[in-house]
Amino acid sequence: MIKENIQALVNEIQSVSGDRLVHLIAVSKTKTIEEIQEAIAAGITDIGENKVQELNQKQLALGDAVRYHMIGHLQTNKVRNVIGTVELIHSVDRSSLIEEIEKRGKAKGIVQDVLLQLNIAKEDTKSGAYEEDLPGLIELIETKEYIRVKGLMTVAPICENLENVRPVFRKMKEIFDQLALMHYNNIEMVYLSMGMSHDFKAALEEGSNMIRVGSYIFGDRNY
Ligand SMILES: *Cc1c(COP(=O)(O)O)cnc(C)c1O
Repeated sequence: MIKENIQALVNEIQSVSGDRLVHLIAVSKTKTIEEIQEAIAAGITDIGENKVQELNQKQLALGDAVRYHMIGHLQTNKVRNVIGTVELIHSVDRSSLIEEIEKRGKAKGIVQDVLLQLNIAKEDTKSGAYEEDLPGLIELIETKEYIRVKGLMTVAPICENLENVRPVFRKMKEIFDQLALMHYNNIEMVYLSMGMSHDFKAALEEGSNMIRVGSYIFGDRNY
């Protein structure tokens, strides 16, 4: 099933994006090592986890068979278990987290690539900085040596009608394009991480180049 799902997903991505490069992250939270191995055998190169402990367990079992992404809310006291072991931390959204990544990166001699997570719709149930927090976060990051911003990430609101999330994706693309014109220290716009199982097509149409897809690949999660 997983293999067929991935094939169907890749076809759908291609039908929306054509030849444009799209980075696919298979979100494997709650899924077993065997299921992830099946996905890797079907071509998956990157997996996303939202809990540090679960991420570390999977890293222990899978080693360098796949690349890892931390996509969930990250507590500062867990930063040391993530630094240098993930391709990207997608969820950088506050100065305390930036300070901690800098501190732990410095201790390990590792420059960590991250994305800034934005909460465009200002949902209080979601992580992510507000748009107006961006200048302050950028100013702080420019002073750092062990953290490098590679783009932006968002989790769009759940809407019955997908047309209602398009403005969020559009706003993200607008900010992404604006920041890409600037010449900040340590900040470049390479990845725009947005789009999940139910909304990746709309996200890709609005300019996403990195999607995080779980249930479409692995089926529903049982918590
Ligand atoms: C779980 C999760 C996803 C994937 O969600 P699906 O709806 O299963 O595709 C993507 N991004 C984040 C941050 C997640 O926590």
